[in-house]
Amino acid sequence: MPKKAKLIDGKKTAAAVKEEIKVEVAAMIDSDIDAPHLAAVIIGEDPASQTYVASKEKAAYHIGMTSSVYRLPDNTSEEKLLKTIDFLNKDPEVDGFIVQLPLPDHIDVDKVIDSIDPAKDVDGFHPVNVGKMALGQPGYLSATPAGIMELFKRYRIDTVGKHCVILGRSNIVGSPMSILMSKKTSPGNATVTVCHSRTRDIEKYTRDADILICAIGQPQFVKAEMVKEGAIVIDVGIHRIPADNEKGYRLVGDVDFDAVVKKVKYITPVPGGVGPMTIAMLLKNTLSAAKKEFYK
Ligand code: NAP
Repeated sequence: MPKKAKLIDGKKTAAAVKEEIKVEVAAMIDSDIDAPHLAAVIIGEDPASQTYVASKEKAAYHIGMTSSVYRLPDNTSEEKLLKTIDFLNKDPEVDGFIVQLPLPDHIDVDKVIDSIDPAKDVDGFHPVNVGKMALGQPGYLSATPAGIMELFKRYRIDTVGKHCVILGRSNIVGSPMSILMSKKTSPGNATVTVCHSRTRDIEKYTRDADILICAIGQPQFVKAEMVKEGAIVIDVGIHRIPADNEKGYRLVGDVDFDAVVKKVKYITPVPGGVGPMTIAMLLKNTLSAAKKEFYK
């Protein structure tokens, strides 16, 4: 039985990352350089998307960045959205911007992402930035995988030669995570297995994982018996489940935390794990955009 599991505190780590960015932003302002400007485009009234955009706006404000939000109605046409993106691509005042996903069904998400200037794509979703990541070239890393890599770094978690099993193969989490973990880098250098909805006997893989990264969008899917003793578990999932409290719900991840925490070495909680890191890394990308670190 491993000693008590250590929580990987994403909230605290994100606060440290944001403090570092804040110092850089203050130095820019002191030198008469405009504060980095992050813009967000949101379509419709999806409550989760509204919450995410509000958190990003608030976080940008707290570290001295400029932020602006373009709120468009649910029935916005693809053409109108593409025009808004074109405007933001050309606006010299905006260093980086995001288009909050998911988009309504009548809008082609690939077309939208392709239309973002890679130099302003601080979400790291554009094919140019994904390609750079795959080739190990400097560029914007997708914020959630970047946040997980930052947690490994700051908690000095040794990933070399470890079996890293990733549940989920989405373009924004599972797939980039699998590339980053298999790279000849530190953190990285892991042996990676990717599982998805067509994987047979998923437990065979999860039970063998030294590092288990869960991003499948299924509440409390990963049970204690699916996890190896002493493993490191990263829970990306975020779900509202009904609860007998004021809000009427509580947040849980893809992992059955209360049971799994008893047998692992490290685990990220939900909330307070990967989520805050995603926002911190978005702000880090925005700072890089303002400093023209990757694109001149
Ligand atoms: P997604 O696009 O829905 O992808 C889910 C992936 O999981 C797919 O590859 C799917 O397989 C696989 N999958 C679904 N059910 C499965 C099952 N029963 N067994 C094995 N694989 C299964 O989700 P996502 O965008 O990656 O997000 C995943 C979760 O992370 C969600 O809860 C989301 O809200 C959360 N999230 C959190 C953050 C954060 O900042 N904390 C950021 C992004 C996402 P197929 O490919 O075969 O369909």
